[in-house]
This record gives sequence, structure tokens and C-alpha cells, in this order.
Amino acid sequence: MATHPVARARMVAEQLTTLASEVDDRGEFPIRGRALLGETGLMGLTVPKEYGGFGSSLEVVHDVCRILGGACLSTAMVWAMHAQQAAIIADHGSEALKRDVLPKVASGQMFIASVTSERGKGGHILTAVAPLLRSGDSLLLSREAPVVTGGYHAEGYLITMRASEESLPSDVVMVFAHRSQLETKLASGWSALGMRGTHSVGMHLQGRLPACQLFTPEKGFAQIATSTDIPMGHLLWGSCWLGAAEGVYRGMLAILSDPAARRGYNLQSDLFAERLARVRLAIDATGAVIRETLREYAGMRERHALDDAIYMSPGFNLRINQVKVFASEMLFEAVDRLMQVGGLRYGYLKNPRVNLERAFRDLRAASLMYGNDRLLVANGKLALVDRSAFQSFNEG
Ligand SMILES: Cc1cc2nc3c(=O)[nH]c(=O)nc-3n(C[C@H](O)[C@H](O)[C@H](O)COP(=O)(O)OP(=O)(O)OC[C@H]3O[C@@H](n4cnc5c(N)ncnc54)[C@H](O)[C@@H]3O)c2cc1C
Repeated sequence: MATHPVARARMVAEQLTTLASEVDDRGEFPIRGRALLGETGLMGLTVPKEYGGFGSSLEVVHDVCRILGGACLSTAMVWAMHAQQAAIIADHGSEALKRDVLPKVASGQMFIASVTSERGKGGHILTAVAPLLRSGDSLLLSREAPVVTGGYHAEGYLITMRASEESLPSDVVMVFAHRSQLETKLASGWSALGMRGTHSVGMHLQGRLPACQLFTPEKGFAQIATSTDIPMGHLLWGSCWLGAAEGVYRGMLAILSDPAARRGYNLQSDLFAERLARVRLAIDATGAVIRETLREYAGMRERHALDDAIYMSPGFNLRINQVKVFASEMLFEAVDRLMQVGGLRYGYLKNPRVNLERAFRDLRAASLMYGNDRLLVANGKLALVDRSAFQSFNEG
């Protein structure tokens, strides 16, 4: 087997391309795709080497997201959210938790789902409703989870809770739970327009956990959220969406360079050229924004410990939110425009050459997955206090 994770991702992507439409048609969790990701070691891409993973750089993670996103966006997103959860454990978990969980993740035995959304607070990650209770040395958990990507198939869960019954909603804690420690009930299905293979079902989770599965960072959950959870989430999701848009763009170009298939298109038309140019502009601009922010974040991780105040700075948080908003809007717009280029036959209708209609449906979810409205409201407030903005311009 190829040794580099990017080469492994290409091998997996070849198979995902053929599995994708089945997963989408049936709205089923990508069981075969998840198994392939385990067999190739890619489930452990963000797990440090000392725990058996690849410990890959963010640049490599970005490339793997794009490759998988270009083949099956649902599988890519299931994987990216898992990679995000594994990174949270590697960055912030107790040593006991890391030794317990990360080798299982690296060997492909464990897929970790994310439980942050909750009824009554929507997607807001920095608040929680259900309280974590204590009984002696144990933690007691009872949690409604309205949308859990791959939740029914997960072997582990990272869950946000209100710190205690007396705590404010803003006092959030995070716990890890093995599936075997929980009673899990399916509360609702996932009949969605797009991202159908993420099988993002509603669940109820209940159980008793040992205290070492509680995350106890010095600066509280905000430290986990700002240094790992949100940056990894927005950068990895954006990279998967980018891969999906790049994939259908490549597919459309292949059609346009095939003399038989391109017969219905007027490639000499200025309107056609302008439309294609705008698609390319949106994809390239998004790629540039993602990679620039990814470099900033990777540089911060090299230079600053994860409890450094820099991760909570307004400028960094604003840019991290911008990546998500920009990627979700621009890439959906790109695919929408590409559908206009492709027309009915290779755009709107399902066809064996390019999966534009699926990409269109999938990418429509991007602005809802942690709602852009919420992020833009937060960014407006951050913009007011971000004194670092355009500083070098003013000084120059
Ligand atoms: C494909 C997919 C996978 C997902 N996977 C998971 C998962 O694995 N785990 C998980 O926990 N969750 C998951 N989610 C849920 C997601 O993170 C959000 O919680 C959810 O999409 C937000 O739902 P909502 O729009 O009902 O809630 P909200 O974000 O609360 O929004 C409700 C409404 O209020 C608007 N709104 C929100 N805040 C503001 C504001 N400040 N100002 C103005 N308007 C505002 C929104 O635009 C929306 O119209 C997933 C969602 C999707 C689409």
C-alpha cells in the first residue's frame, strides 16, 4: 500500500466515487467508505505518531479533505468531523484518555461523532442546556442530540454539556463517551435534501462515565473551542466543500473537452466564457482564503501553546469564521453557476459523467451547518473590537 496519506486518500477516493451515488440515493451511512478509511489508516490522520497515527500536517489534512470531498462529500464530511474530534482529544484530553482512545482511532476501530447541537440553543457551540451530573467519582449524562453525523454508527462521542445543574448555559464542559458506556436511542432519522450519506440522525444518549473522560483545560471549554474545535472544523469542512466543487468543475471540463459530449455547448460564446470564468474565480478565491488561514493557524500552533491568549483574539476568530462563511457561500454559488454552464443534461439531471446535482444539494447544507447568520453576527461584534485589522496598512 502507498505510504503517504495523500496517495492513500487517492486510492480510497477511487472507490468512493463509485460508492457515492448509492450512499446518496439510500441516505445511508457510508459503511464501506468508513471501512476503507480505517483500513488505510486515514481515520488516524490527525492522531499524533506516538499514539499510532499519521500526525499529519494541516496541509496534508487539507489535501486529504479535498481528495475525499471530490469523490463523496458525505463520506468526506463524516471523516473530517471525526478527524476534528480526534484532534480535540490529542490536543486537550487527559493522558489516560489519549492512551485509551487514540490508538483505537489510529487502527481504524473507532469513529468519533460530535454532539454539540441541542434543542433550545440550536448550534451555538459556546452554550449548553443539559447538565452533567456527578455521583461519587462518576459523571452522569443524559443528552438529547438532534443532529449527530454518523451518530448511529459511531464507536465514540465527544459531547458538550452544561457544567452542572447550577451552572449557567455559558458554562460548558466537554466529555468523551465510548458507545459501550452509553445507552443510545435513535430519536429521529435523516431525510435531507443533501449530505444524505452523513446520516445525521437525532439521538438520545444516557450513561455513567469515569471522571478522566471529562476535559479540564485551564481556561475552560472556550480554550478547546478556539484553539482546536472551531479552527479545525471550519478549515476541514471548507476543504471538503472545496474538493467537492473542484471535483464537479473537473468533471464539467472533461465534458467540455470531449467532442461528442460538448456538441450542445457554444464554447465560443462570451457569455459561456464569462460564466465559466466566474466559477473558476469562486473556486480559486476560496482555495486561497482557506490555505492562507490554514497557514496562519498552523504557524500559531507551531509558535504558541494551546492555552495562549492568541487563540481567543478577535482577529483570529473573525478570520476562522470568515473561512466557513466564505467557503460555504462561494462554493455553493460556484456549483450553482456551473449548473447553468452544464445546463439540463450534464447539470440538473443525474448523469454518469458529472455529479453536479448532488454537489448542488450537498453544498446547500454548508451555510446551515453551523449557521452562517450566527457566525456573521459574531463576526460583526468581533470586527468592532479587532484593533489589529489592517494595522500594517495604517502603519505603512
Ligand atoms: C450536514 C449537517 C451535519 C451536522 N452534523 C452535526 C453533528 O454531527 N453534530 C451536531 O451537534 N450538530 C450537527 N449539525 C447541526 C449544526 O451544527 C447546527 O446546529 C444546525 O445546522 C443549526 O440548526 P438550526 O439552524 O436549527 O439552529 P440555529 O443555528 O440556532 O438557527 C436557527 C435559525 O436562527 C438563525 N440564527 C441563528 N443565530 C442567529 C443570530 N445570532 N442572528 C440571527 N439569526 C440567527 C439561523 O439562520 C436559523 O434561521 C449538522 C448540520 C448539518 C446541516
